[in-house]
Amino acid sequence: MSAIYDRLLSDPDLSTALSEVGIFLFDFQTGKSISSATWIEEEFGDSLFRGDANWIKSIHPQDRKQVAQSVDRIYRGEQRVFQELFRLMKADGTVRWVLSKGRAIGKGQGKLPLLFVGSDIDVTAYKDVQARMEQNLAELETLREVAAVIGSSLDFGDTVSRVLEQTRRIIPYRTATVQLLDEQGLRVIGGFGFDNLEKVKSFRFPYPHEGSLSTRAIQELRPIMSGNVALDFPGFVQPDDSNPIVSWLGIPLFRRGQVIGLVTADSPSARAYTSRHLQLAATIGDHISIALENARLHDETYTMVMTDALTGVGSRHRLSIEGRLLYETAFRNGHSLGVLMIDIDHFKKVNDTYGHDVGDRVLRKVCTTWAKSLRSTDLIARYGGEEFVILLPETTFDAAQALAERLRRSTQALGIDDLPYPVTISLGVAARVPGEGGGLEALFHEADLQLYKAKQAGRNRISPPNPSA
Ligand code: GH3
Ligand code: MG
Ligand code: MG
Repeated sequence: MSAIYDRLLSDPDLSTALSEVGIFLFDFQTGKSISSATWIEEEFGDSLFRGDANWIKSIHPQDRKQVAQSVDRIYRGEQRVFQELFRLMKADGTVRWVLSKGRAIGKGQGKLPLLFVGSDIDVTAYKDVQARMEQNLAELETLREVAAVIGSSLDFGDTVSRVLEQTRRIIPYRTATVQLLDEQGLRVIGGFGFDNLEKVKSFRFPYPHEGSLSTRAIQELRPIMSGNVALDFPGFVQPDDSNPIVSWLGIPLFRRGQVIGLVTADSPSARAYTSRHLQLAATIGDHISIALENARLHDETYTMVMTDALTGVGSRHRLSIEGRLLYETAFRNGHSLGVLMIDIDHFKKVNDTYGHDVGDRVLRKVCTTWAKSLRSTDLIARYGGEEFVILLPETTFDAAQALAERLRRSTQALGIDDLPYPVTISLGVAARVPGEGGGLEALFHEADLQLYKAKQAGRNRISPPNPSA
């Protein structure tokens, strides 16, 4: 049998051809061998089968032990079949994945085989495809989760933290921030990876700023990345010199085509980011822009619902929400809560005689005037048509009554364009330490009753009347 192998091994054309297609062969009797081209490319040549310890050094350290043990078992005659998948480190620094299959043939001295024959196949391309598919899957999964986070919370800070946390799986970073652009520059409004995010949130960066990567990303309306900021951008300002940023990437955030800020990510490693990371970051940036827009719309809607559009004072909705809070606070602290119920006198006549525009002007003007007499903790709301409620925390009945009288006087003293006579109001006053009697509704009802009495008594007055007025 060995004569055939002698012939294979002694025919240079044949052994080269076998080697090139990946075949390896070792004759235990003569010590002659053919190595597969995969190995011959290496400087170690055919040393694999001479038991030279050097061959193992071209195998990736993580795969070394496993392959060496497997080869040993064949060489000691303990095993006949060999199959290993390992990484081969080429002299040029690249790494190839090799699938190696072999088989021992025949019986020689002791348990030793006569021949060991097999093939090495370079499967790097398949491994790359597999790795890319796994990466794509991880990216898809992350983007899906990011999209889910966007719709799940109205709290922008919370949303941004969760989006950035997910993003870290596909864009490795040490810290990431979301910054918004305003007249004063860039303001950090969210981030991830910081020991103290609240502190970072007070950070402001000047804009535009010479040599700043953020400025470039915003001005050029495109993502910017650097694998070595010190080299690429000598003006780069390190937030912490003892732990410098080496790689950096920044993605502008857009709203209707306008840059409104940017997302940044950084790494202590050189060349941490690829164009793929940039692409992914742009998609994440789009999601964050949507979250920002959601938060903005929510704020806008909230303000709208809580505000009376004509006068700018609180809406009835705001009164019902905040009124309850003020009542509960007063209850907890044992403080008196004052209520003024105000109605403009003969307002229908203003509208009918001088038109709605003049009526509207009256409503706006009285509200602005009253606001000047109120504290920031007082709550004024439009109760309906030309009726208003003012809630006065920590205010006794006497103090509420005094304020009512002041409002009555200042209203009467107002001049309204196109209205030839003064506007007057009637006010009902009530105040109580919560717990003594009914709840907030009862307090409103009492003030309303007093307002009715003021009207009955002739208008332009407060009820119960202030004895000292
Ligand atoms: P009284 O002294 O008894 O309160 O008489 P009044 O005319 O003020 O009372 P009434 O409640 O009958 O009239 C309220 C009027 O307020 C009716 C309505 O046309 C007017 N009004 C309600 N909302 C608005 C508004 O937003 N703008 C204007 N211009 N008028 C309004
Ligand atoms: Mg009225
Ligand atoms: Mg009325």
